[in-house]
Amino acid sequence: MKVYIDGKFLNERDAKISVFDHGLLYGDGIFEGIRAYNGRVFRLKEHIDRLFYSAKAILLKIPMSHAELMRATVEACRKNELRDGYIRLVVTRGVGTLGLNPNHCKKPSVIIIADKIQVYPAELYARGMDIVTVPTVRNLHSALNPAIKSLNYLNNILAKIEANNAGVEEAVMLNAEGFVAECTADNLFIVKDGKLLTPPLSAGALYGITRQTVMELAAQLGVPVSEPNLTRYDLFNADEFFLTGTGAEIVPVVKIDGRVVGTGRPGKITKRLVTEYHSLTKVSGEPIYE
Ligand code: PMP
Repeated sequence: MKVYIDGKFLNERDAKISVFDHGLLYGDGIFEGIRAYNGRVFRLKEHIDRLFYSAKAILLKIPMSHAELMRATVEACRKNELRDGYIRLVVTRGVGTLGLNPNHCKKPSVIIIADKIQVYPAELYARGMDIVTVPTVRNLHSALNPAIKSLNYLNNILAKIEANNAGVEEAVMLNAEGFVAECTADNLFIVKDGKLLTPPLSAGALYGITRQTVMELAAQLGVPVSEPNLTRYDLFNADEFFLTGTGAEIVPVVKIDGRVVGTGRPGKITKRLVTEYHSLTKVSGEPIYE
């Protein structure tokens, strides 16, 4: 595998960064997870936009333009002969001193890894997932805004550990007020009486690109979408429930905190959205091979 670091494609074993990089020392950096389907990079512009928004929020100057970063991402796929896969884009604050002052980091590093991914076992998509709410609450906006896709994922990792300890794959995270925010690496939706509901971004969720795509698909299918604050009660009494994320795509949820959701099987609207999502990803995106 060839990994892009700061303008060069390196062999996997030579793709290394300094132990003084503040991305490692302090989680000071940002990232994106992007998918390629059928020789095209899906929603590339949206992912690069979000990377730049994250960078702005943490006062990190990405040493490349939007267009250069798009080209390098596509090139990383080409160099690895990838038609279907997962691309991880990372920008770190760069090499600094052991103190945390970012002013000592003179040059941010850009890393692009183009690889394969399988987030959840295949049978989970057919059967639906069992999940739990965990005690670790989502970061406060006023502390570390969940809209920033930073390298500081400990909040989510702690929640994931709690889910694993409960014997399940994913966790619902609440915000400090007790409203539903999102999962550790996915946004969430419920269906109630034919309508799609998802927590507002202000509840403490990432501005999910799959979330946005699902909302567009729902509009095309004539399914109304709204973004009210949701509580666990709403999740327990949903007709359908699913998660969305670039890596995970659309995952049906059939049980939460011991309560069976709807019929206990992936719902009709969920299945329709999965079909539409797969059709869309097959044909749209930035071509890797001209
Ligand atoms: N929430 C979090 C915390 C995430 O890390 C992600 C990305 N995997 C998502 C939601 C889903 O966002 P997207 O659809 O843009 O991948």
